[in-house]
Amino acid sequence: MTRCNRCGRTLKAPTATGLGPTCERYVLGSKPKRAPAVERRTVKRDELTPDLFAEDARQAVRRGFAAARERLAA
Ligand SMILES: [Zn+2]
Repeated sequence: MTRCNRCGRTLKAPTATGLGPTCERYVLGSKPKRAPAVERRTVKRDELTPDLFAEDARQAVRRGFAAARERLAA
């Protein structure tokens, strides 16, 4: 049975470093991120289409004020 060299936890399979995955990360740091398979293109912001989410949020705020006003008036 293989055990981690650092914490002695049993390992399912022997590793190159002799450490478990958690200790390996602790000792060696997290693995470097893989480069994206598809190169990211910078997205150009669409200034012509109205921002519907922002408009929806504005209206929700307005509805909230209207509801509060009604509560206070009642
Ligand atoms: Zn360990």
